[in-house]
Amino acid sequence: MAQIRIQNVRKEFGAFTAVRSSTFTIEDGEFFMLLGPSGCGKTTTLRMMAGLELPTSGEIFIDGEEVGMKPASQRDIAFVFQMFALYPHMNVRKNISYPLVSQGMKREAVSARVADVARILRIEHLLDKPVGGLSGGDRQRVALGRAIVRRPKAFFMDEPLGALDAEFREHMAEELRALHDRMGATTVYVTHDQLEAMQMGDKIVVMNHGVVEQFGKPQQIYDWPATKFVAQFIGSPSMNFLDFEGMIGIGGDSVELGGVKVHVPAAREGRAGRLTLGVRPEHVAFRDDAPYRGRVSAVEYLGTTQIVTLSTEHGDVKARISSGQAVREEELVGLDFDARTLSLFDAESGKVLI
Ligand code: ATP
Repeated sequence: MAQIRIQNVRKEFGAFTAVRSSTFTIEDGEFFMLLGPSGCGKTTTLRMMAGLELPTSGEIFIDGEEVGMKPASQRDIAFVFQMFALYPHMNVRKNISYPLVSQGMKREAVSARVADVARILRIEHLLDKPVGGLSGGDRQRVALGRAIVRRPKAFFMDEPLGALDAEFREHMAEELRALHDRMGATTVYVTHDQLEAMQMGDKIVVMNHGVVEQFGKPQQIYDWPATKFVAQFIGSPSMNFLDFEGMIGIGGDSVELGGVKVHVPAAREGRAGRLTLGVRPEHVAFRDDAPYRGRVSAVEYLGTTQIVTLSTEHGDVKARISSGQAVREEELVGLDFDARTLSLFDAESGKVLI
């Protein structure tokens, strides 16, 4: 098991900077997600931790030891790629044993380890089968078996479920998380899927354009996004943003939105100018006497809830309300925002103010 620390790590490819001064810590035994859109630098970050890419500057520590310039083979980690490559001419047992046999481990010890891995992955019945005839899921389990049999300090996975269809992907995600809980080994997992990150991760780093935008537990990131980028990237439908020209003093607890006072949590820093109020769809409620108004332009039924789109003077606002609540298109409704859950951003920098 391992703690992994990234300190001011930067990676340049020629004139292009793929990762800018990243700093965060992955605690021993955590299931840790590197999340962000395509090209944001998450794979490069993972490859630097694994020793497959050297940082341009900064330090990488595994269990307190600086390993930034050490090759992958000296880091005692296992890398699980998206395309699980198995040896097609060998059976399952041989595929899983291979890393141990090639290390020169004794036969009895190898057998015991393979039996252990097969039990953890629940593939005992497949051990003597050729890998060629296995289903996609079983192949993934065998590939995982080959990665875990060495008992590395940490697992690195780059979109391991990316090639699977939605239903199977969800099933394998649950299995991977359960496997992690049984083994407790530090796992670093790259994904661009915010839902996957929220469901599986103990902690998440959200990256954008090579920058770490935020780092924390899924709930912290969802409830208290540090930037507008994080706020819109996490959650579906996305957080509503209402831009306005405003002023808020230190400790102030309201902003004016279209002539209507909206209560917000007390501000940590005063600010005047262009501000953006962020409110999640589930924190928008309909209240007849609320002075801030919107006209219903669309209703999307989702079973227990419905997503209502409203036109307001600040653009479209989406509300997630109970399906039991009657709504008519074109209806004018009062909108109430839950003050405890609002975010306020500086419109220029996108940084959160409260
Ligand atoms: P994806 O999910 O698309 O793989 P990512 O967030 O994992 O995206 P990276 O693969 O880390 O992103 O790439 C970050 C940026 O660095 C991209 O713009 C990519 O084109 C660039 N990049 C990555 N590797 C190299 C390389 N060896 N040489 C030049 N540029 C590279």
